[in-house]
Amino acid sequence: MIRYRAEVAVELQSLREQVLEANLELHRRGLALYTWGNASGFDRARGLVAIKPSGVPYDRLTAVDLVVTDLDGAVVEGRLRPSSDLRTHLALYRAWDDIGGVVHTHSTHATAWCQARRPLPCLGTTHADHAAGPIPCAPPLSAAAVAGDYEAATGAQILAAMAGTDHRHTPMVLVGGHAPFTWGADPAQAAHHAVVLEELARLALLTLQIDPRAKPLPPAIADKHWQRKHGPRRTYGQG
Ligand SMILES: [Zn+2]
Repeated sequence: MIRYRAEVAVELQSLREQVLEANLELHRRGLALYTWGNASGFDRARGLVAIKPSGVPYDRLTAVDLVVTDLDGAVVEGRLRPSSDLRTHLALYRAWDDIGGVVHTHSTHATAWCQARRPLPCLGTTHADHAAGPIPCAPPLSAAAVAGDYEAATGAQILAAMAGTDHRHTPMVLVGGHAPFTWGADPAQAAHHAVVLEELARLALLTLQIDPRAKPLPPAIADKHWQRKHGPRRTYGQG
């Protein structure tokens, strides 16, 4: 029993360190001012989620501050309150059995698209290299949904917006009137996708400023770029 508990602690330490690093990456890349963002990680074998505590600035955040919960949001370890967005993260972990990290930021350009309530069009190969098609934008929640379990309803709203879009190929979404969520196989990949999304949003805005009638990338080029980086016969990198 003692040995088992020690193993759990070591495993959770690894999860905690991955989640801490993902949170710090958001701060380093300028994606999260003050406390405006959160990253979590899911240890699927143990059914445990580690997430940033609510309202703790990044420059004071340590691995022991992270809060560990089960998939229902019950705190298993930690003395601080979890991020208020926890239930949105949990909705995504419950829906998709192949993700191990979720990130939420209010990064400037991605959030501007959310506030405009516009899906992010694929205008060039930079976008096509990272996401297969436009990034969906979930509509703002109804007053009734806001009055209920707001964070869980946000999760449901994301899942509805992603219906018909493969979450493995488009690992990011815009929440209308709010801000983006991204995900990945682990916390590091979810944070990477948040950085990528911010740049795609910035590029798209600049493109449409230069030419408001700019057309989406032709499907043949978009598909070529996505396939060569992520498809079964990918040629990108050294792997
Ligand atoms: Zn938010």
